[in-house]
Amino acid sequence: MSPKYDRILLKLSGEALMGEQNYGIDTKVAAALAAEIKTVHQLGVEVAIVVGGGNIFRGVSESAGNMDRAAADYIGMLATIMNAVVLQDALEKADVFTRVMSAIDIPELAEPFIHRRAIRHLEKKRVVIFAAGTGNPFFTTDSAAALRALEIKADVIFKATKVDGSSMQTP
Ligand code: UDP
Repeated sequence: MSPKYDRILLKLSGEALMGEQNYGIDTKVAAALAAEIKTVHQLGVEVAIVVGGGNIFRGVSESAGNMDRAAADYIGMLATIMNAVVLQDALEKADVFTRVMSAIDIPELAEPFIHRRAIRHLEKKRVVIFAAGTGNPFFTTDSAAALRALEIKADVIFKATKVDGSSMQTP
């Protein structure tokens, strides 16, 4: 049976990596997520992931206090890079080849996001993890998921989150 979708984009919110904790990363949860992603990938589905950062920092949050919004949002984007590296580690431990592509240049850790290169990675059956959202403040990683899904021509976007969208506040 061939899979329904050839190429998918999974939006993984930061909270999805938190497990039962109130903050941060539970590596056991990351391992469990990696195992599920591997199952899908093994079906032959090309998988791209946009990872959030809300488990560590959000631009619009109490922890940001009265920080300048753009500065706080950049910290939020850095949080997504940390999550991306955790997820990469978990996937590689499960023998899934991955690439992290960041919208903010951080060459020691991740490749820069280059649209055609991202597609090439997917064609080569690497799981691509998009980090740093859109690279712009005043956006969220949900916007990044929509943007990247269009750029890589994903068949569908799946969103895994614990955040109740109906209660989300606008800035
Ligand atoms: N962020 C941003 N631009 C983006 C993506 C994210 O400024 O393109 C910042 C923003 O402060 C956001 C934080 O990064 O609150 C973490 O992302 P998000 O809240 O979307 O994470 P999630 O809710 O998915 O865990």
